[in-house]
Amino acid sequence: MQQMAKTIVQVYGNLPKPHKIMLGTLTIATLAVAIWRPVVIQPDDKDENISQESSPIKPGIILGSKDKSETNTSQVDNSDTDDMITDSSEQLPDEGVTDEKGADTPDEHVVSNGDNLTSILTQYGLDAGDVAALSNQHRALRNLQIGQTLSWEWNKDGELQTLTWIISQRETRVYTRQGASSTFNEEKQIRQGVWADNVIQGKINGNFTSSAVTVNSGLTYNEAREVSKALQWQIDLRKLKSGDKFSVLLSREMLDGHSEQSRLLGVHLLTNGKNYYAFRAENGRYYDSEANGLERGFLRYPTAKTVRVSSPFSLRRINPVTGRPAPHQGVDFSMPVGTPILAVGDGEVIVAKYSGAAGNFIAIRHGRQYTTRYMHLRKLLVKPGQKVKRGERIALSGNTGRTTGPHLHYELWFNQRAVNPLTANLPNSGGLTGKDRQLFLASVKENKSKLASD
Ligand SMILES: [Zn+2]
Repeated sequence: MQQMAKTIVQVYGNLPKPHKIMLGTLTIATLAVAIWRPVVIQPDDKDENISQESSPIKPGIILGSKDKSETNTSQVDNSDTDDMITDSSEQLPDEGVTDEKGADTPDEHVVSNGDNLTSILTQYGLDAGDVAALSNQHRALRNLQIGQTLSWEWNKDGELQTLTWIISQRETRVYTRQGASSTFNEEKQIRQGVWADNVIQGKINGNFTSSAVTVNSGLTYNEAREVSKALQWQIDLRKLKSGDKFSVLLSREMLDGHSEQSRLLGVHLLTNGKNYYAFRAENGRYYDSEANGLERGFLRYPTAKTVRVSSPFSLRRINPVTGRPAPHQGVDFSMPVGTPILAVGDGEVIVAKYSGAAGNFIAIRHGRQYTTRYMHLRKLLVKPGQKVKRGERIALSGNTGRTTGPHLHYELWFNQRAVNPLTANLPNSGGLTGKDRQLFLASVKENKSKLASD
């Protein structure tokens, strides 16, 4: 480069004067264009919401992020049966669900105890025929292991397009639909990197995410999101104050000098003189230092007694009259007017009002990932902003809004997607026991000292 600059200066020096002036002008103009850049103003990260869209760093092998708007725009149906209530985005535009907007959460699932391919994928509304085809064509998929991650992308027709199976830190397999058939092609991706522990420490200045991503060798947005997920049941990160301290222990896989992926091993937060810890166990869930579960348990049914299902959850149902997709994003429980409705888990009421076709309607947020919605109520017993406990009475069932008879329409949303409330994996409040507990406590001891190191 220096040599080149010298040559340019020499050539320039030998040029006649008019040429020098012209060349000089051109050079200045070129430089001006090269230096000038439009000023990009980044919107302030006002709260704890972590925008995946704006994340400059995405883990290399996590595929399957999907435009959320697709779900809500393609499923509008004008039929006036009860089941259409949640289809219409005009009536209920994700109320109580997209308050964490910007978090473009990929459709993914971490395999845990008791899962298999079918139970996982059908729970998220993927077609059972496609799932069966996958498992017949690629038998390895029948051997999912705890802690592995599945993620998927949908095509325009609402069908499975790609399934990504993260088998290990090194190996990923991607299954892609061939044309319009039910044949899925398998591609193996082998990565090799070096995993190393990283401790990232800092003080809150503004909100957690901006503080954690800007601190020296800071977190990626995905990593920050994982931290808030780990702590979600203990503390609302939006309520941290400037000066509060955080320490995050990550294992990162380094490949070509870049972090290919990372795993949150533990986090420590000091706020208001109180210490909060969360550590990841082998099963992918987070526990406190004593191996107690951090997640709050959920009730399966929002009623004291088991009630009859009058219309099941179905994302792929086609309306027999219009022939158009008419997903039913919840479950209808038949019950007499006046039946007490219970909050299925600890949470905060985010909606409690009359809302068109939904009638009297309640939405509750549970931690960062779960939302529940209750419709056609006769009487609301809670107000927006109110904290509720699992099993607490929130309403009396009714027949309000667009219904054909008294019932409760109940929805469970996980990562901004409606899932089947009757089969979804619910948060488990249990702690670790036996050998799992011993292994966990040994790793906590080690990881705690790493978190404390400077
Ligand atoms: Zn319904």
